[in-house]
Amino acid sequence: MIVTQAQTLTLLAALILVSGAAALVWTSLAFTARIAPRASLTVASANAATALALALHALRGTLPDALAYWPGDVLAVAAFALLGAAVPAVTMRRLIWKPGAAVVAACALTLAALPYDGDLRWQARLVNAAGAGLALTAGLAAWRSLGRWASGRRTPAPLALPLLLIAALMAARCAESFVHPGAAPDLRLPTGFNLGFLWASLVLVLLQNATLAFLVLMRLILRIEHLLDRDPLTDTLNRRAFDQSLALAHARFGRGRGYALVMIDMDRFKQLNDTLGHAAGDAALRQMVKELQPCLREVDRFGRLGGEEFCVLLPDTGLAGAALVAERMRCLIDATPLRWLEQDWPLSASFGIAEARPGDSGPDAVLARADAALYRAKHQGRNVVQG
Ligand code: GH3
Ligand code: MG
Ligand code: MG
Repeated sequence: MIVTQAQTLTLLAALILVSGAAALVWTSLAFTARIAPRASLTVASANAATALALALHALRGTLPDALAYWPGDVLAVAAFALLGAAVPAVTMRRLIWKPGAAVVAACALTLAALPYDGDLRWQARLVNAAGAGLALTAGLAAWRSLGRWASGRRTPAPLALPLLLIAALMAARCAESFVHPGAAPDLRLPTGFNLGFLWASLVLVLLQNATLAFLVLMRLILRIEHLLDRDPLTDTLNRRAFDQSLALAHARFGRGRGYALVMIDMDRFKQLNDTLGHAAGDAALRQMVKELQPCLREVDRFGRLGGEEFCVLLPDTGLAGAALVAERMRCLIDATPLRWLEQDWPLSASFGIAEARPGDSGPDAVLARADAALYRAKHQGRNVVQG
């Protein structure tokens, strides 16, 4: 097959246009739509650096050498470093920039020490090897973090694949310069390798951007789901989500898996509100929830039924286990007063516990028993557990 320069130049122009357009789209996502602004801006910068590095490469010979060579090579390495920072920025809201910046700085210094005097193979090898290394590190980190990120769903780890393919592509370009040491490292030259490399790059730039867009979408969906399920004040499950978990536990109970409920109601809460104000009441609720978190296992569900009344669902637990958990919770609340405007306000709560029984028609029967037990606890003088 005869490769013409028009083909390589067209592909190079397409790559620059696609990366540039992607940079604009991600920038508008960050500033206009304000969707994941920091992450979107990182992706935008990666695309912009790619477009600019390729544009400088394409304009070698036209632009002054001082602009077209060293800055272009450094920008190319920076593009890979930014791409590596983009995935954790999207999935974990963490901007990990220091390792990438260190690689860019090291490459910039090394490139500055190499003479740009016609033979540019070592510069190209360094840029391509650094690109391969950065993309590989990012790909492996993404593979691990994506699996953990959206647990409970089909693992999105293969979404890290474009990064790994980019690493392979850059490694191939680096290896090729050793296999054919005579070829100049110029993407505009009409060689078969350049044509294949440019096509693969175009596909991977599109794939990588699509993947990142998908991850941003997924992050938004996870956030919306979280907001739908949570009580805004305490971040416990809201009534709707708690009822769902309870219905699920009861369905499992039909298949032989028991569960217990611990119902919690703060004591004399109206008095606290009336004396210290509603804001103090809110702070007390948040403090109580935070305090009780260490008592819970990962499978337990903590929900706010309304007002200052909460319920904990304990799967695979009987009445005796629930009594132990409730007693521990009671002691914790009792032991820590609310500190408000330099004064301590004693807090306590009453607890009603119940376990699912074979005759129960549904979860409401278990809830009603826990509620009746709570009522007895209040009548006993509060700050006690009743079952
Ligand atoms: P008892 O010991 O019998 O449970 O007395 P209590 O005062 O806690 O009971 P009651 O149900 O009469 O009062 C509950 C109070 O909780 C009434 C309401 O003002 C307050 N409350 C409900 N939801 C919130 C909330 O989100 N924030 C604050 N600050 N107070 C709330
Ligand atoms: Mg109360
Ligand atoms: Mg109440």
